[in-house]
Amino acid sequence: MKHFEVAVVGGGHAGTEAAHAAARMGAKTALITMSRSGIGVMSCNPAIGGLGKGHLVREIDALDGVMARVADKAGIQFRLLNRRKGPAVQGPRAQADRKIYQKEMLDETNAQQNLEILEGEVVDLIEENQRVCGVVLADGTSIRAAAVVLTTGTFLRGVIHIGDVAKSGGRMGDKSSEALAERIDGFKLPLGRLKTGTPPRLDGRTIDWGGLECQPGDEDPVLFSFLSKATSARQISCGITYTNEKTHQIIRENLKRSAMYGGQIDGIGPRYCPSIEDKVVRFAEKDSHQIFLEPEGLDDDTVYPNGISTSLPAEVQEAYVHSIKGLEDAVILQPGYAIEYDYVDPRALRATLEVRDVPGLYLAGQINGTTGYEEAAAQGLVAGLNGALAAQGRNPVIFSRSQSYIGVMIDDLTTRGVAEPYRMFTSRAEFRLSLRADNADQRLTPLAIELGCASKARVDTFSSKLEQLNAAKALLSSNDYTAQDAAKVGIAVNQDGNRRTAFQFLSFPDVAFSDLIPLVPGLEDVEGEIRDQLECDALYSNYLARQQKEIETLQRDEAQKIPDGFDYRDIEGLSNELKTKLEAARPESLAQAARLDGMTPAGLTLILGRLRRRSAKKTA
Ligand code: FAD
Repeated sequence: MKHFEVAVVGGGHAGTEAAHAAARMGAKTALITMSRSGIGVMSCNPAIGGLGKGHLVREIDALDGVMARVADKAGIQFRLLNRRKGPAVQGPRAQADRKIYQKEMLDETNAQQNLEILEGEVVDLIEENQRVCGVVLADGTSIRAAAVVLTTGTFLRGVIHIGDVAKSGGRMGDKSSEALAERIDGFKLPLGRLKTGTPPRLDGRTIDWGGLECQPGDEDPVLFSFLSKATSARQISCGITYTNEKTHQIIRENLKRSAMYGGQIDGIGPRYCPSIEDKVVRFAEKDSHQIFLEPEGLDDDTVYPNGISTSLPAEVQEAYVHSIKGLEDAVILQPGYAIEYDYVDPRALRATLEVRDVPGLYLAGQINGTTGYEEAAAQGLVAGLNGALAAQGRNPVIFSRSQSYIGVMIDDLTTRGVAEPYRMFTSRAEFRLSLRADNADQRLTPLAIELGCASKARVDTFSSKLEQLNAAKALLSSNDYTAQDAAKVGIAVNQDGNRRTAFQFLSFPDVAFSDLIPLVPGLEDVEGEIRDQLECDALYSNYLARQQKEIETLQRDEAQKIPDGFDYRDIEGLSNELKTKLEAARPESLAQAARLDGMTPAGLTLILGRLRRRSAKKTA
């Protein structure tokens, strides 16, 4: 019998983050996983971050988690998505070298104090006094812990499908978790089935790169971690190609042989990572779909064709891949496949991710109906922190929607549940102007320090940044100036007679920090990172006050009536998912709409705006 304070089951993205978080809190932690070599495996695309997901990675980092630092070390192509849009919706993304990612994650895990890796399959949970207080491995070893965090991903009753061939498996090459799934049945938790898929992997040496478009990374890579200063791996480019009419014809002719379409799979798939079968059916009007050819590593010829995940039979995959420009002779190293698995309806969980009716048991990651490494890691962090707090007899930590994307996700999951695999988007966050990737440290690192899960390096880096930020902001706010003063240094603002501080000048989109240097002595000494941060803070300062009012108004008007026949279709910014749900449910009031599964406060704001414009038109 081994004794720990926290036992984490699973060494994927949720599990590693959960185990690190608990250990950083000072709890004696076990990370129990089927195989040490599986720690940090990327089951699908070799990339971290993206829109909404990049925010989660920054927040994990702000709480001193590991994903951001590991991704920075493994990153072989960094791109800031939505670069031309405002900072609030920009998403840092990095393509990663799979092997480096795994190695760095294992190194970090081995080096973490209070954390022990144990190899084995968990087959049972120990229960005493109606509390879970440990796990049992297949070899009979018992491990006791005050808190048990399950992060078993797609492994619970996982079934892999390639065409009409189905076999049990947690992901390609791994066995599924059957005994644990049966044990969980005993708790009578609400379970469902979901599915996801992955594309075939190609041999890069057999791709004709010559005629393909090339996509390099950003010249000035934006890293994930507030502690990272530069990339460490060599940077590479990706190729771009497209499906064509012939590809679509092959897929259409074989739809019945696809596991997703042939009726073999009951589970619901991810709307935002559709299979190529889905794309050809749902977007029948499109005659081609883009495919990013992403090398999986620097010393690996495997290429991940991002955009053609599939569950068609292997020979059909071969035929449609060969119909694509540049892939005519491409050799498939591993066929694409779909996986179907059990998930627990996350409405059964508290905001701490503890199962409401099973004290001591926490769930995090894909087991809760989410999809994606980042969503999994962020939940792992929350469950790991709370597992440690419970074991230490301390109060839980709850993340609010107004504070973080982590809070948005946990609230969405635990209050609304999931109807399909849940992934993060910036549109899910109603306070997204303040929840930016650039200020995640200011929002969350003080909490990490208060909880006691931040390293000395983190505390020192953050304290020094905050000091510099405050000093520079004080300089910017120390004086006010007329428009004439500004004009003398080349800053054009309205001649409205108002005096403004330099910080207020900086809130104008066309005024840069460097423009203010001739106006305010001392600004020339402010470092680049601090300048960038102040530009973002100033840019949003006016909007933030306005956003606060919008939220209050929204709450007051929740009982606003929605007329019959109200047209949701042309509301810009409202997701298709919500439009479909609203059309089906036809809510009579905004309050009713708010209670619809999947409805977001951001969506309600859009509907309210349309209702207001409609009634303004009528009265005009
Ligand atoms: P995982 O990373 O799956 O880790 C689970 C861990 O639990 C593993 O280490 C496993 O060994 C361990 N484990 C399981 N059972 C036991 C047990 N009984 N005892 C001990 N250890 C156990 N995400 C996207 O965002 N987009 C996609 O297109 C996408 N496609 C995917 C396609 C496939 C085929 C798969 C498998 C996944 C895909 N994903 C995709 C999802 C992404 O891989 C997951 O969301 C993410 O890895 C989930 O992390 P996790 O930590 O919850 O689980």
